[in-house]
Amino acid sequence: MKIKETFINDSILRFTLEGVDVAVANALRRIMTSEVPTMAIDEIYVAENTTPLFDEVIAHRLGLIPLKTDLDSYVPKDKCSCEGVGCSRCQVILSLDKKAESDVETIYSDALKSDDSKVTPVSPNIPITKMIRGQRLTLEAYARLGTGKEHAKWEPVSACFYKYKPLVELDTVKCNLCGVCVSECPKNIFKIEKNKITLENTDTCILCLECVNKCKPNAIHVSYDKNNLLFTIESTGSLPPERIFLEALKIFDDKLSELKSIITGKSEVDK
Ligand SMILES: [Zn+2]
Repeated sequence: MKIKETFINDSILRFTLEGVDVAVANALRRIMTSEVPTMAIDEIYVAENTTPLFDEVIAHRLGLIPLKTDLDSYVPKDKCSCEGVGCSRCQVILSLDKKAESDVETIYSDALKSDDSKVTPVSPNIPITKMIRGQRLTLEAYARLGTGKEHAKWEPVSACFYKYKPLVELDTVKCNLCGVCVSECPKNIFKIEKNKITLENTDTCILCLECVNKCKPNAIHVSYDKNNLLFTIESTGSLPPERIFLEALKIFDDKLSELKSIITGKSEVDK
């Protein structure tokens, strides 16, 4: 399997994956969406709520706020030595206490004060509820590690997908420079420069075949490379996108070891 990074920033990672079957790529995609753990609020204790929203609606809204995750310092609650009671190794407490001082006020995610500075809301601007003067919301929220398999709030990715690498070829002998492909392509792959059609960013092609269908002299051929996949991972911000991919590879590796031990009838412990 050959991996070549093509783009990376704080939330998006794009790379090409060469020499693997699409089933392997799909397994990785599924692991990333449903098995890489992140932190999310799972329980709340409401001390006072005079806002227009019911406690359970607020609980639901808090659960969906992505939290920065520190995977190296926490363990899942069910694997913790506290046996699910909740301790500093498996849960983070975020408290919120706001009273509206003006006529109408919105409480945002930055009102959640975490007892661990590494586990905080990804964005400070996610609205939780609105209040009018005098209304108050006081609560304590408990965040823990979980996976997307259990609930979508633990998914580390907002988008995770791949496509075959598009192959766009132009027959310069047949091409009559009519320019139809330039105007029809929704991704602006074709450019006319100095009486010549040039191709750029062909990876963005969505295989809509508009260029092929509209090109009268049949000078364009569009296909895709089955051995070359273009992967995009877009993180919710809980984890860096490269970490999500590396964690997925680890989980995939563990699964393969488990499968191997089942097939050979030997567990890793026996060895
Ligand atoms: Zn614990």
